[in-house]
Amino acid sequence: MSLGEGSGKRNGRGGGGGGVAPPPCCLVENCGADLSGCKKYHQRHRVCEVHAKAPVALVEGLRQRFCQQCSRFHELSEFDQTKRSCRRRLAGHNERRRKSSLESQKDGSSRRLKENQFRHLREGNEIGSRGNQNYHIH
Ligand SMILES: [Zn+2]
Ligand SMILES: [Zn+2]
Repeated sequence: MSLGEGSGKRNGRGGGGGGVAPPPCCLVENCGADLSGCKKYHQRHRVCEVHAKAPVALVEGLRQRFCQQCSRFHELSEFDQTKRSCRRRLAGHNERRRKSSLESQKDGSSRRLKENQFRHLREGNEIGSRGNQNYHIH
């Protein structure tokens, strides 16, 4: 009986949906190209094929360029001249190289740690044998 009551009730809010995606169109101002027939890459990043390659495009009132590394628009100041990937990404590549050299250093330090542990064990054994001698004399 309580079950029937529950099903009879209806939520006042008709389910916000959320599954409805806005029709894909280019983010660039005054373009508004319909991307429904374009590649999924262009639909996802909401840029038409032309503006993905354009050196300058007006987005949100700013002169920007589509970064092929980040797949998004950056301001022109983020790029070096005519490059299509931003400076930050190019710097990131250099950092990765440094990190790999750091990892090889880490390996060396871990080996040292093991040696230290071994030494510790030996010292412990020596102390133990001395203790035994003392006990014998007593
Ligand atoms: Zn466009
Ligand atoms: Zn970028």
